[in-house]
Amino acid sequence: MDVDDQTVAVGGGGREWTGVVSQRLRCCVCGGPTDGSEDYVLVELTAPFADTRQWFGAHAEHLDSVLAEGFSVEVHKM
Ligand SMILES: [Zn+2]
Repeated sequence: MDVDDQTVAVGGGGREWTGVVSQRLRCCVCGGPTDGSEDYVLVELTAPFADTRQWFGAHAEHLDSVLAEGFSVEVHKM
């Protein structure tokens, strides 16, 4: 399993950043809503034996807490 695209941009223009999906996803760690979360991140999940991809939303802080040692989530605000 590869985890890519661990960045988030929070626009100042009202509409929340959702990435390549049309709406914010629930946090895959705590299951809670991510609306209004400034540390929202979108994670792409791919596998070498499958063409499909899956997206997960998460609070960066929560994702950070479950990542393997040495990995961290970086949040970029725009
Ligand atoms: Zn969470």
